[in-house]
Amino acid sequence: MDKIQRFLAYNGKINIICASTTYLVEEARKIHDLSPTATAVLGRTLIMASIMGANLKGEKDSLTIQIKGNGPIGSITATADSNACVRGYVQNPTVDVAKRADGKLNVGGAVGNDGFLYVIKDIGLKDPYIGMSKIISGEIAEDFTNYFYTSEQASSAVALGVLVDKNGVKSAGGYMVNAMPDATEDELFILEQRIKEAKPISQMLDENMSLEDIAKDITGDVNIKVLQDEKVPKYECNCSKEKMERALISVGKQELKNIIQEDGKAELVCHFCNKRYIFTEDELRKMLLK
Ligand SMILES: [Zn+2]
Repeated sequence: MDKIQRFLAYNGKINIICASTTYLVEEARKIHDLSPTATAVLGRTLIMASIMGANLKGEKDSLTIQIKGNGPIGSITATADSNACVRGYVQNPTVDVAKRADGKLNVGGAVGNDGFLYVIKDIGLKDPYIGMSKIISGEIAEDFTNYFYTSEQASSAVALGVLVDKNGVKSAGGYMVNAMPDATEDELFILEQRIKEAKPISQMLDENMSLEDIAKDITGDVNIKVLQDEKVPKYECNCSKEKMERALISVGKQELKNIIQEDGKAELVCHFCNKRYIFTEDELRKMLLK
């Protein structure tokens, strides 16, 4: 089962959030029929979204990530709520980029190394919070480390990984590590070394390491504290015919009349789950009266 867990290391001076999301990323792959490279791109973005979602404070808070790079996959969108329920899509799900020299999927090549990353947080205020930063490498984890540093003034280490084989997603997950201001130089040095030497997160999960073992491994603290606020990240879409109807009404009455005249019906497809919604001429005419 997928899981997100939080830990404290070095007596609370370092906090760690770890995610195991193999089923969630496999679900995204199946829904969108993603190529291996697109699975890694959307997968990494969804893992980040689930971690950031789990970090939201309010029950009703939500966030959206948008990555707009200059690579062939086009724009990437992911949303998450505070229960780590996520959904997302990429513009070009069949993108095919040659593997990197080290045999890994070329995520950076698909995303591009120029463009912007946006985070829109709805935390119950009148206006949403919008943060942005430049894309550094398109590898996503590095781009988010930079985002947290430049936009949220937080020094974080982020790792995101998706392992794909011929059957689909073999393992997927990620972690984010944050140091509190009272962490000592020595502790930060150990942390940096451990993270640098750690195996890729997807490999650790593939070797059946628990999230607790991973947190111990990347911090070097065997006396880690496990916080009891575990969450189960899921791929979940909340679209409905009512929401699609509101979207249709928002195009305006004249446009609705044009649709009725030209097509006699309307067909809408949800970007996040590919579900089709058909509105008959009768239904469209009723919308004109609203
Ligand atoms: Zn949907």
